[in-house]
Formats: sequence, C-alpha cells, structure tokens
Amino acid sequence: MVNQQRLGDVFRTLVQIDSISREEGPIAKRLEAIFESMGGEVVFDGAGPKVGGNTGNLIARFHGAETEVTPLLLNAHMDTVQPGKGVKIVFSDGIFSSDGTTVLGADDKSALAIIIETIQVLQENKLRHGPLEVVLTICEEIGLLGAKNLDYSLLKARHGYSLDASDTDGIVTRAPAANHIQFKIYGRDAHAGAAPEKGINAIQLAGRAISRMGLGRIDEQTTANIGRIEGGTATNIVPGLVTVAGEVRSHSPERLKDETRKIVRCFEEEISMYKEAFPSQDGLPRVETAVRSDFFVMQVPEDHRVVVLAQEAASRLGREMKTKTSGGGSDGNIFFEHGIVVGILGTGMKDMHTGRESIRLDDMVKCTELLLEIVQLHAKGV
Ligand SMILES: [Zn+2]
Repeated sequence: MVNQQRLGDVFRTLVQIDSISREEGPIAKRLEAIFESMGGEVVFDGAGPKVGGNTGNLIARFHGAETEVTPLLLNAHMDTVQPGKGVKIVFSDGIFSSDGTTVLGADDKSALAIIIETIQVLQENKLRHGPLEVVLTICEEIGLLGAKNLDYSLLKARHGYSLDASDTDGIVTRAPAANHIQFKIYGRDAHAGAAPEKGINAIQLAGRAISRMGLGRIDEQTTANIGRIEGGTATNIVPGLVTVAGEVRSHSPERLKDETRKIVRCFEEEISMYKEAFPSQDGLPRVETAVRSDFFVMQVPEDHRVVVLAQEAASRLGREMKTKTSGGGSDGNIFFEHGIVVGILGTGMKDMHTGRESIRLDDMVKCTELLLEIVQLHAKGV
C-alpha cells in the first residue's frame, strides 16, 4: 500500500528545503500546506520568538473516524544540524545521501516524509484511524528547545511515537538524564616573566582538577565529559581566568547527582588545597559552579501500551521489535517530563550529523508500514 515513489519524492522535496535550527520557517510553511491539503487542522504555537527562531512548533490534527479512542501523538523535528544548507541529494542503489559537503537531513526529514505517507495511505485506502496529533518541533538539535518551549495546552495526546532513531526493528524506551556543568576558575593574572610569584595560574589549577576526574563511561548507566575549555590571553601573562564546561548523563537520577557532585568536588578540592599551601588575602583562587539540568530521564515501562502496540504491529508484519536504550536525549525526554509517553522508532537513517549521512528508501518504507499498522491497531483500541 505504501507508495515508494511518492515517499521518496516527498523526502527529496523536504531535504531540498533548508531548515537549520531557528530557520525552520520555510519547511514549516510547506508542511502546513501539505497537511492542510490532506484535511489536517494546523496550528503553530508561540515557541518561535522564545528561542529566537522564525517559526513555532507545528501541530496538525487529523480527527479520524474512531473518535472514541484517545489521540495518538506522532512526533518528529523539523530542524537539521549544520552544515545543512543547499543539500545536493544523491540517490543510488536505493540509498539517499548528500554529496558529502553537507548532512543529508534524513535526521529528521525521513520521519516527516514517513508521517505524511502514512496519512496519505490511510486516506486513499479509507483505513479507519483514531485522532492523530502530529507534533513537529523546532530546534531539537540545539538543546531540544522546541519541545522545551512547546505549548503543552495545545496537546490532547498522552502517548505516541517519536520518529527519530536509526533501527527500524527497535523502539527506544530508555534515554538518560543530563546535567550541563560550567565552571569559572578565578586565579590571579600577573606578568609571566617579571612577577610570576604574584600570579595564580587558573589554567594549571583547572588542569589539575580535570586530571583527577573520572570521565568517559563511568558505569553502565553513566557517562561524563569535559568538552570545552577557554582561558588565558597571552603567553606572557599568568592566566587569571579559565572557563570549563562539561556534562554528565545517566539513566539513574541518583547516579547523575553523585557523579555531578564528584566533578564539582574535584575543582573545589583543588582550590582549597592551593589555598592551604599558599594563603592569600583576596580570596583567590576561587571557583564559580553552575549546574543546569539539560533534560530528565526517559523510562518507558516495557509493558506500556506504546511498547505493546509497536510490538503487536511488528509481529503482524512478521517482524520483531526490540526495546532499546539510547545514550542521547531527544524530544522524547521532554515529553516524558510533561507526562506524555513516547516510544522512539527508527526510520533507517545512518551516520547522522556527518557528511556521510544516508538512508535506504526500503527502510523508510519499512518504517511507514510499521506506523500504518500501529495507527490501525490504535484505532481498534490496542
Ligand atoms: Zn534527530
């Protein structure tokens, strides 16, 4: 029932509309027109100005004949990472890719094309479905800003699917929580040649603290990283200030807290050891710490209806659907925080965020078939 040619054509069209984060306006307009031509009711929320972007999140509603069942959320994001402007799409051996100078944008335009094709097939075959709430976010790639600023009063659905992963035979049910941490280490600047005794080298202090940290994969549930360091002005000046930024992620909120605290303590201990060795009057060195929760954990129970529904749909297609754990956060984390449970389905996209990004048309077809089956089972109250 899936029209491969049409699915590929819609994907091709969407890929050729630039939509890097904060500049999703043109693709949002196109999607609005597509959904309205299919009888959808489209609204935009007010998230655009809040994130400095040129459009809000798009919400399209399709009522369906089965009005008794609870609405089903279908989510994807409209933005792509950079370099993502002027994508030259290549199709060979059934695989879409870019010419290598940009990303392809299958992340997440494959999902947009799949959702559109699913609704087309439902309509032209007069397949019964329940209320569908298509929620297309902005700025997913720059910190889930669209989902974070979404007007949740516009949503009726309390469960559904996000199409934003690779494996077409998997459903992501677990994603970690993350903390973003920033440190400012204040030493004291001084002439490096004439008066180094008067200086406190902030870079050296930071270096010592970082060298004592456990980073990388801490345990099965937890990872930590220092990803940015910035400081100093010249080789002949003892640096008085350095900024260090990093993150901790964990599937366990407890472990997230512990590991974040450990990293903070490395800086604090380094500073107090220095102060004990070299007492000073001006309170230097010192550290300013800012910990911000980036997103909360997502944990969909294995027996939740979104998992059962996807597995039942897969088995009807003679396929298996494994539950999976992701190492990254997505809009799903933010929905989860707002009491909306989504399972994350794979569209077949590969090597996302690189010039090698690609997707097989066959995999997009597979994902569409699964979604079609899910929507029809949902209409029957599964
Ligand atoms: Zn994505």
